[in-house]
Amino acid sequence: MNIPSRIEIPRFPGNKRIAVTTSFDDGHTFDRRIVAAFNAWGMKATFNLNSGNLRHTGKPTVEGDLKPGERAYLDASEIAELYRGHEVAIHTVTHPWLDRLDPSQIVDEVQQDRKALEDLVGYPVRGMAYPFGSFNPQICALLRGLGVVYSRTCVNAENCFPPAEPLAWASTAHQYATGPTVPERFQALLGNPRYSGVFYIWGHGFEFHDRNDWAGFERIYKPLSGHEEVWYCTNIELFDYEAARQRLVLAANRASAYNPSGIPVWVKAGDRLLAIAPGQTVSLRY
Ligand SMILES: [Zn+2]
Repeated sequence: MNIPSRIEIPRFPGNKRIAVTTSFDDGHTFDRRIVAAFNAWGMKATFNLNSGNLRHTGKPTVEGDLKPGERAYLDASEIAELYRGHEVAIHTVTHPWLDRLDPSQIVDEVQQDRKALEDLVGYPVRGMAYPFGSFNPQICALLRGLGVVYSRTCVNAENCFPPAEPLAWASTAHQYATGPTVPERFQALLGNPRYSGVFYIWGHGFEFHDRNDWAGFERIYKPLSGHEEVWYCTNIELFDYEAARQRLVLAANRASAYNPSGIPVWVKAGDRLLAIAPGQTVSLRY
Protein backbone atom coordinates (compact mmCIF):
# COMPACT_ATOMS: atom_id res chain seq x y z
CA MET A 1 0.00 0.00 0.00
CA ASN A 2 1.20 3.48 -0.93
CA ILE A 3 0.45 6.89 0.49
CA PRO A 4 -0.24 9.87 -1.78
CA SER A 5 2.77 12.07 -2.47
CA ARG A 6 0.57 15.14 -2.01
CA ILE A 7 -2.93 15.83 -0.69
CA GLU A 8 -4.72 18.95 -1.85
CA ILE A 9 -7.94 20.37 -0.42
CA PRO A 10 -9.63 21.94 -3.47
CA ARG A 11 -11.34 25.29 -2.95
CA PHE A 12 -14.76 24.07 -4.09
CA PRO A 13 -16.74 20.79 -3.98
CA GLY A 14 -15.87 18.29 -6.69
CA ASN A 15 -12.65 20.19 -7.46
CA LYS A 16 -14.70 22.70 -9.48
CA ARG A 17 -12.54 25.57 -10.65
CA ILE A 18 -15.01 28.46 -10.31
CA ALA A 19 -17.83 29.16 -7.86
CA VAL A 20 -20.70 31.29 -9.20
CA THR A 21 -22.90 32.94 -6.59
CA THR A 22 -25.43 35.77 -6.86
CA SER A 23 -27.66 37.91 -4.69
CA PHE A 24 -30.78 40.01 -5.24
CA ASP A 25 -32.09 42.57 -2.78
CA ASP A 26 -35.37 43.95 -1.46
CA GLY A 27 -37.94 41.15 -2.02
CA HIS A 28 -40.16 42.46 -4.80
CA THR A 29 -42.40 40.22 -6.91
CA PHE A 30 -39.75 40.41 -9.68
CA ASP A 31 -37.81 37.80 -7.70
CA ARG A 32 -40.31 35.19 -8.89
CA ARG A 33 -39.03 35.57 -12.42
CA ILE A 34 -35.42 35.30 -11.26
CA VAL A 35 -36.10 32.16 -9.19
CA ALA A 36 -37.98 30.46 -12.07
CA ALA A 37 -35.12 31.12 -14.49
CA PHE A 38 -32.40 30.12 -12.04
CA ASN A 39 -34.21 26.89 -11.19
CA ALA A 40 -34.40 26.08 -14.90
CA TRP A 41 -30.72 26.97 -15.45
CA GLY A 42 -29.40 25.19 -12.34
CA MET A 43 -28.22 28.41 -10.70
CA LYS A 44 -28.46 29.53 -7.06
CA ALA A 45 -29.11 32.90 -5.48
CA THR A 46 -29.30 34.61 -2.13
CA PHE A 47 -32.29 36.91 -1.57
CA ASN A 48 -31.85 39.73 0.94
CA LEU A 49 -35.22 40.68 2.39
CA ASN A 50 -36.64 43.53 4.47
CA SER A 51 -39.23 41.80 6.65
CA GLY A 52 -40.87 45.14 7.43
CA ASN A 53 -41.74 45.61 3.77
CA LEU A 54 -43.30 42.19 3.18
CA ARG A 55 -47.07 42.10 2.86
CA HIS A 56 -49.19 40.12 5.31
CA THR A 57 -52.36 39.25 3.44
CA GLY A 58 -51.95 35.49 3.77
CA LYS A 59 -51.81 34.97 0.01
CA PRO A 60 -49.28 35.67 -2.77
CA THR A 61 -49.07 39.30 -3.87
CA VAL A 62 -51.01 40.01 -7.06
CA GLU A 63 -48.52 41.93 -9.15
CA GLY A 64 -50.94 43.53 -11.57
CA ASP A 65 -49.79 45.82 -14.34
CA LEU A 66 -46.74 47.53 -12.84
CA LYS A 67 -45.29 50.45 -14.73
CA PRO A 68 -41.56 51.27 -14.66
CA GLY A 69 -40.74 52.51 -11.15
CA GLU A 70 -43.72 50.73 -9.61
CA ARG A 71 -42.89 47.79 -7.38
CA ALA A 72 -44.87 45.31 -5.32
CA TYR A 73 -43.41 43.49 -2.32
CA LEU A 74 -43.89 39.76 -1.87
CA ASP A 75 -46.27 38.43 0.76
CA ALA A 76 -44.79 36.77 3.86
CA SER A 77 -46.89 33.68 3.16
CA GLU A 78 -45.08 32.96 -0.14
CA ILE A 79 -41.48 33.38 1.01
CA ALA A 80 -40.67 29.82 2.13
CA GLU A 81 -42.00 28.13 -0.99
CA LEU A 82 -40.72 30.69 -3.50
CA TYR A 83 -37.12 30.68 -2.29
CA ARG A 84 -36.81 26.94 -1.55
CA GLY A 85 -33.35 25.71 -2.61
CA HIS A 86 -31.96 29.26 -2.50
CA GLU A 87 -30.92 31.36 0.52
CA VAL A 88 -32.98 33.96 2.35
CA ALA A 89 -30.80 36.54 4.11
CA ILE A 90 -31.05 39.70 6.21
CA HIS A 91 -31.46 43.15 4.66
CA THR A 92 -32.76 44.80 7.90
CA VAL A 93 -36.42 45.43 8.82
CA THR A 94 -36.91 48.85 7.18
CA HIS A 95 -33.90 49.44 4.86
CA PRO A 96 -32.25 52.38 6.71
CA TRP A 97 -28.75 53.80 6.27
CA LEU A 98 -27.17 51.80 9.12
CA ASP A 99 -24.29 54.26 9.51
CA ARG A 100 -26.82 56.94 10.60
CA LEU A 101 -28.27 54.84 13.46
CA ASP A 102 -27.07 54.25 17.02
CA PRO A 103 -26.01 50.71 18.02
CA SER A 104 -29.33 49.88 19.68
CA GLN A 105 -31.35 50.60 16.54
CA ILE A 106 -28.83 48.75 14.37
CA VAL A 107 -29.19 45.66 16.55
CA ASP A 108 -32.99 45.91 16.36
CA GLU A 109 -32.98 46.33 12.57
CA VAL A 110 -30.76 43.29 12.06
CA GLN A 111 -31.94 40.96 14.81
CA GLN A 112 -35.67 41.56 14.26
CA ASP A 113 -35.29 41.03 10.52
CA ARG A 114 -33.38 37.84 11.15
CA LYS A 115 -36.02 36.47 13.52
CA ALA A 116 -38.92 37.42 11.25
CA LEU A 117 -37.27 35.72 8.26
CA GLU A 118 -36.43 32.64 10.34
CA ASP A 119 -40.09 32.43 11.35
CA LEU A 120 -40.92 32.22 7.64
CA VAL A 121 -38.22 29.90 6.26
CA GLY A 122 -37.64 27.56 9.21
CA TYR A 123 -33.81 27.60 9.21
CA PRO A 124 -31.18 29.81 10.85
CA VAL A 125 -30.69 32.93 8.72
CA ARG A 126 -27.01 33.92 8.91
CA GLY A 127 -26.17 36.06 5.88
CA MET A 128 -26.84 39.71 5.11
CA ALA A 129 -26.49 42.56 2.64
CA TYR A 130 -26.18 46.17 3.79
CA PRO A 131 -29.04 48.48 2.72
CA PHE A 132 -27.51 51.11 0.39
CA GLY A 133 -24.18 49.36 1.05
CA SER A 134 -23.72 51.54 4.15
CA PHE A 135 -21.48 50.15 6.90
CA ASN A 136 -18.42 50.94 9.03
CA PRO A 137 -16.09 48.98 11.33
CA GLN A 138 -18.36 49.50 14.37
CA ILE A 139 -21.30 48.01 12.47
CA CYS A 140 -19.17 45.02 11.43
CA ALA A 141 -18.27 44.41 15.09
CA LEU A 142 -21.93 44.60 16.16
CA LEU A 143 -23.00 42.12 13.49
CA ARG A 144 -20.21 39.73 14.42
CA GLY A 145 -21.55 39.77 17.97
CA LEU A 146 -25.01 38.89 16.66
CA GLY A 147 -23.71 35.87 14.78
CA VAL A 148 -24.08 37.25 11.26
CA VAL A 149 -21.63 35.22 9.14
CA TYR A 150 -21.15 37.63 6.23
CA SER A 151 -22.59 40.89 4.94
CA ARG A 152 -22.30 42.08 1.34
CA THR A 153 -21.26 45.65 0.57
CA CYS A 154 -21.48 47.56 -2.73
CA VAL A 155 -17.70 47.37 -3.11
CA ASN A 156 -16.29 45.37 -6.04
CA ALA A 157 -13.17 43.21 -5.91
CA GLU A 158 -11.70 40.94 -8.56
CA ASN A 159 -10.58 38.46 -5.93
CA CYS A 160 -13.57 38.56 -3.57
CA PHE A 161 -13.30 35.30 -1.65
CA PRO A 162 -12.41 34.39 1.02
CA PRO A 163 -12.70 37.97 2.31
CA ALA A 164 -10.37 39.27 5.03
CA GLU A 165 -13.51 40.74 6.68
CA PRO A 166 -16.64 38.66 5.89
CA LEU A 167 -18.80 41.46 7.33
CA ALA A 168 -17.45 43.83 4.66
CA TRP A 169 -17.73 41.39 1.77
CA ALA A 170 -17.13 42.75 -1.74
CA SER A 171 -18.76 41.22 -4.81
CA THR A 172 -17.13 40.71 -8.20
CA ALA A 173 -19.47 43.20 -9.85
CA HIS A 174 -22.96 44.64 -10.02
CA GLN A 175 -25.10 42.95 -12.69
CA TYR A 176 -25.11 45.97 -15.02
CA ALA A 177 -21.35 46.53 -14.76
CA THR A 178 -19.81 47.76 -17.99
CA GLY A 179 -16.36 47.75 -19.53
CA PRO A 180 -16.28 44.74 -19.46
CA THR A 181 -19.81 43.46 -18.91
CA VAL A 182 -20.63 40.55 -16.61
CA PRO A 183 -20.75 37.92 -19.41
CA GLU A 184 -17.48 39.29 -20.84
CA ARG A 185 -15.77 39.11 -17.44
CA PHE A 186 -17.05 35.58 -16.89
CA GLN A 187 -15.95 34.34 -20.32
CA ALA A 188 -12.44 35.66 -19.68
CA LEU A 189 -12.17 33.68 -16.42
CA LEU A 190 -13.83 30.57 -17.81
CA GLY A 191 -11.50 30.61 -20.80
CA ASN A 192 -8.42 30.79 -18.58
CA PRO A 193 -7.76 27.23 -17.32
CA ARG A 194 -5.38 28.55 -14.65
CA TYR A 195 -8.04 30.74 -13.06
CA SER A 196 -9.80 29.54 -9.91
CA GLY A 197 -12.04 31.74 -7.77
CA VAL A 198 -15.47 33.08 -6.91
CA PHE A 199 -17.58 35.02 -9.42
CA TYR A 200 -20.17 36.96 -7.41
CA ILE A 201 -22.80 39.13 -9.14
CA TRP A 202 -25.59 41.07 -7.42
CA GLY A 203 -28.49 43.36 -8.26
CA HIS A 204 -32.25 43.90 -7.97
CA GLY A 205 -35.13 42.47 -9.99
CA PHE A 206 -36.59 45.98 -10.36
CA GLU A 207 -33.61 47.04 -12.45
CA PHE A 208 -34.84 44.79 -15.27
CA HIS A 209 -38.43 45.93 -14.79
CA ASP A 210 -37.63 49.66 -14.69
CA ARG A 211 -35.43 49.42 -17.79
CA ASN A 212 -37.94 47.16 -19.50
CA ASP A 213 -34.96 44.85 -19.99
CA TRP A 214 -35.81 41.30 -18.95
CA ALA A 215 -33.87 40.30 -22.06
CA GLY A 216 -30.95 41.88 -20.21
CA PHE A 217 -31.53 39.55 -17.27
CA GLU A 218 -31.13 36.58 -19.62
CA ARG A 219 -28.22 38.20 -21.44
CA ILE A 220 -26.35 38.78 -18.16
CA TYR A 221 -27.06 35.57 -16.22
CA LYS A 222 -27.74 32.73 -18.64
CA PRO A 223 -24.15 32.65 -19.96
CA LEU A 224 -23.00 31.93 -16.38
CA SER A 225 -25.07 28.72 -16.24
CA GLY A 226 -24.48 25.16 -17.34
CA HIS A 227 -20.70 24.90 -17.07
CA GLU A 228 -19.10 21.65 -15.90
CA GLU A 229 -16.22 23.42 -14.15
CA VAL A 230 -18.50 25.71 -12.12
CA TRP A 231 -20.05 25.19 -8.68
CA TYR A 232 -23.37 27.04 -8.41
CA CYS A 233 -23.98 28.02 -4.78
CA THR A 234 -25.74 30.44 -2.50
CA ASN A 235 -23.66 32.95 -0.53
CA ILE A 236 -23.89 30.98 2.73
CA GLU A 237 -22.99 27.69 0.99
CA LEU A 238 -19.73 29.33 -0.04
CA PHE A 239 -18.91 30.31 3.55
CA ASP A 240 -20.04 26.95 4.94
CA TYR A 241 -17.86 25.04 2.48
CA GLU A 242 -14.85 27.22 3.23
CA ALA A 243 -15.34 26.66 6.99
CA ALA A 244 -15.65 22.89 6.45
CA ARG A 245 -12.50 22.65 4.34
CA GLN A 246 -10.60 24.72 6.90
CA ARG A 247 -11.61 22.16 9.55
CA LEU A 248 -10.57 19.11 7.52
CA VAL A 249 -7.88 17.14 9.38
CA LEU A 250 -5.09 15.47 7.39
CA ALA A 251 -2.85 12.93 9.11
CA ALA A 252 0.81 14.02 9.18
CA ASN A 253 1.77 10.72 7.51
CA ARG A 254 -0.69 11.51 4.64
CA ALA A 255 -2.35 8.09 5.12
CA SER A 256 -5.76 9.27 6.41
CA ALA A 257 -8.12 12.23 6.66
CA TYR A 258 -10.97 13.15 9.03
CA ASN A 259 -13.91 15.40 8.19
CA PRO A 260 -15.37 16.71 11.47
CA SER A 261 -17.86 19.00 9.71
CA GLY A 262 -21.49 18.44 8.73
CA ILE A 263 -21.02 18.50 4.94
CA PRO A 264 -18.89 16.42 2.53
CA VAL A 265 -15.41 17.81 1.87
CA TRP A 266 -13.33 16.89 -1.18
CA VAL A 267 -9.64 16.05 -1.24
CA LYS A 268 -7.29 15.34 -4.10
CA ALA A 269 -4.96 12.57 -2.94
CA GLY A 270 -2.37 12.20 -5.66
CA ASP A 271 -4.55 12.09 -8.76
CA ARG A 272 -7.60 10.61 -6.99
CA LEU A 273 -10.51 12.88 -6.11
CA LEU A 274 -12.37 11.77 -2.97
CA ALA A 275 -15.43 13.13 -1.15
CA ILE A 276 -15.09 12.60 2.59
CA ALA A 277 -18.52 12.28 4.18
CA PRO A 278 -19.48 14.29 7.29
CA GLY A 279 -17.93 12.83 10.44
CA GLN A 280 -15.93 10.20 8.49
CA THR A 281 -12.31 9.17 8.75
CA VAL A 282 -11.00 7.64 5.52
CA SER A 283 -7.79 5.90 4.54
CA LEU A 284 -5.88 7.64 1.75
CA ARG A 285 -3.70 4.58 1.09
CA TYR A 286 -3.94 3.02 -2.32
ZN1 LIG B 1 -31.79 47.14 -0.68
